[in-house]
Amino acid sequence: MRKNWKTKLIHPDAHAPEGFRSLSTPTYRGSTVLFSDAAAVEDTWDQYAVGYTYGLYGTPTTLELGARVCELEKGFRTFITPGGQGAIALINLAFLKAGDHILVPESIYTPNRKFAVELLRRFGVEVTFYQPTIGAGIQSLFRSNTRLVWCESPGSITMEVQDVPAIADAAHKIEATVVLDNTWSAGIYFDAFAHGVDITMQALTKYVGGHSDLLLGSVTVRDEAGYKRLGSTHQLVGCAASPDDCSLALRGMKTLAVRLKAIEASGLELARWLAERPEIELVLHPALPSCAGHELWKRDFTGSAGLFSIVFQRRFTKQQVLAFVDSLELFKIGYSWAGVTSLAVAYDFHSTPNRPDYGARIVRLNTGLEDGDDLKADLAHALEAMKR
Ligand SMILES: *Cc1c(COP(=O)(O)O)cnc(C)c1O
Repeated sequence: MRKNWKTKLIHPDAHAPEGFRSLSTPTYRGSTVLFSDAAAVEDTWDQYAVGYTYGLYGTPTTLELGARVCELEKGFRTFITPGGQGAIALINLAFLKAGDHILVPESIYTPNRKFAVELLRRFGVEVTFYQPTIGAGIQSLFRSNTRLVWCESPGSITMEVQDVPAIADAAHKIEATVVLDNTWSAGIYFDAFAHGVDITMQALTKYVGGHSDLLLGSVTVRDEAGYKRLGSTHQLVGCAASPDDCSLALRGMKTLAVRLKAIEASGLELARWLAERPEIELVLHPALPSCAGHELWKRDFTGSAGLFSIVFQRRFTKQQVLAFVDSLELFKIGYSWAGVTSLAVAYDFHSTPNRPDYGARIVRLNTGLEDGDDLKADLAHALEAMKR
């Protein structure tokens, strides 16, 4: 066909040479996916069963990230979402209906709690919060309509390690689905499916991304039934992730092992050093005996992440704790974690009655990749500055 230059802008005859073999996954962007003939057109989400049909269900970049997260978590399949919170929303929407009851630990990530309180209750789902250390005792909270049991281990901010196998055993007796937020372990240090979990989610924003420059989430299922339920909901909710962000996550994943190893060592050193300081009452790090559930961490985990909390002695006021955080120079102040930069955030538990009695004396630290001695010096300086 003869083409005008304007047509050539869209249908060129020019082509680059083929056969480029790179070590990195190409970034496939695309909404439209081409079909070979008119009869082949169909709108089906399961790209593993029917091949690619529409960018919303994943491009090769998105699906490669999903497949690789799935391989590490030893699941059946993984869905990628635009963020960890999106993964939480997707799971709840896929598994719940009006009249169901769910159980959520008091130590759950706050936006997950808000989703339950503000959205699920509005849609007629009953929500009960339970103490994260409840273990097999969770069965006393079961109702005839209990459908889903959320776990997060260790819990957000207060870091309680949960007896996930005991909770899963109890939940499976009443055919409830067990969901775990596995972000802290990066899907590496806790083998969720081997410990009875049915569905895991992660904020890939954290360790997999690893550089504080992207937002992504994952939902991994244990079996085909979970895959179908989540896939059909994923299609309806339309929460597709950006292939550009997936490409960054694929790059981040390649260095996950060395980052985790360095962060674990540095985090442990800081935690042990802080535990010896007279200003500190408690170090909430799962690898230290002072953390609730430490024995369970020893039993079930194969390593520790760099996110932990410290609780100051009772004599310190909220103003002094804030002054500690403000006096830090290398530790920056900000949400999210698991990047290369150390971070600190102070919390106030005065208005959360069912959490431990830490008042406004708790600070969460994210260990980054700075030199450990420099981080210690920064903490030491801030511990002196807060007393002035
Ligand atoms: C950050 C975080 C999330 C949410 O992830 P986003 O990508 O920020 O939406 C969920 N769970 C835990 C434990 C987190 O720390």
